[in-house]
Amino acid sequence: MQPIRYIRPSTVREAIAAHASLGDGARYIAGGTTLYDLMKLNIERPTGLVDVTFIEGLETIDTSGDTLRFGANARMADVATDPIVQSQYPVLSEALSKAASQQLRNMATVGANLLQRTRCMYFRNGYGGASGGAADYPCNKRIPGSGCAAIGGLDRGQAVLGVSDACTAVSPGDWPVALVAMDARIEVAGPGGERMLPISELYPLPGETPHIEFTLEPSEIIVGIVIGKNAAGARSTYHKIRDRESFAFALASAAVALEMSGDRVNAARIALGGVATRPWRADAAEAMLIGSDLTDDLAMAAGRAAFADAVPGRSNGFKVELGARTVADAIMIAAARRPL
Ligand SMILES: Cc1cc2nc3c(=O)[nH]c(=O)nc-3n(C[C@H](O)[C@H](O)[C@H](O)COP(=O)(O)OP(=O)(O)OC[C@H]3O[C@@H](n4cnc5c(N)ncnc54)[C@H](O)[C@@H]3O)c2cc1C
Repeated sequence: MQPIRYIRPSTVREAIAAHASLGDGARYIAGGTTLYDLMKLNIERPTGLVDVTFIEGLETIDTSGDTLRFGANARMADVATDPIVQSQYPVLSEALSKAASQQLRNMATVGANLLQRTRCMYFRNGYGGASGGAADYPCNKRIPGSGCAAIGGLDRGQAVLGVSDACTAVSPGDWPVALVAMDARIEVAGPGGERMLPISELYPLPGETPHIEFTLEPSEIIVGIVIGKNAAGARSTYHKIRDRESFAFALASAAVALEMSGDRVNAARIALGGVATRPWRADAAEAMLIGSDLTDDLAMAAGRAAFADAVPGRSNGFKVELGARTVADAIMIAAARRPL
């Protein structure tokens, strides 16, 4: 049995200090819905847990000014059902309400959601299970340099965008995809002070170092998420395609937000999930829409443009067509929504 120190700070600064004092084995813990899972699988073996759930004010939701601000400890369920978020930013509300299950959303927090790790089955199943024995499968994310069993293996769920020779694991979250489409910024605090991190910069491509999954510095804590209010929010959707209609991760998903006058698209924000190694901004698809009158054919062309650089493996090529159609459908769903 491995002893674990448990610390319950009451301020952000105390949390950072506690984390730093515990060293490499320290982990923040919020709802625990990801971390405890990974501990049971022996993928995470923390020597100290810094429980952030008792930090006062970290759960605040504020939609009153020019921005939407969600404290890191706001529960997924509470943000999903916030009246302003639901009515004026359906892309955010739907990304949360289509994730996990109601019980999980009641526990899980929107800050920690950004840091969930891949569901690649070789990553999750290759550690000798609960016995903690030798790895059954190589995984460069888990053990750098050990190889990747998914490449050339059972790769139906793997990514087709942003892949490398070292890793094809999908970035699993729904919420980060919506946040990338909305250009969210992350409030981060650490031993060196506070900073604002554009969400797109939180997730590096796997390249040769897929074990580096986030760009947070040691002991940095996520304090909040900030989104500038914008008109595209009202004409938006998060469209998620999965093997079953609830309680499943995305095979392909698209977050779309549009500004239109009549049929003409003035601004487009599109990001993809379930198909890429990080939440994926689809710039080419956006460019194809902007300045044109929207039709079904144009939406489909934009969907195809989003996957022009796809690199399928053995058995995940279906994601290219599925993904393109998911984007096209999402564009038409968003367009049909009228700003209030
Ligand atoms: C069965 C199941 C199905 C799921 N399905 C989906 C799905 O369909 N879509 C989806 O998007 N997600 C899904 N999830 C993932 C779920 O959304 C995440 O587990 C949840 O959002 C994590 O939040 P938490 O508060 O429980 O995190 P925790 O488990 O407490 O922490 C997660 C990570 O964040 C770190 N952390 C926690 N708080 C902070 C902080 N403030 N600053 C810095 N680091 C911090 C922890 O150290 C840990 O590494 C599923 C999870 C389960 C178990």
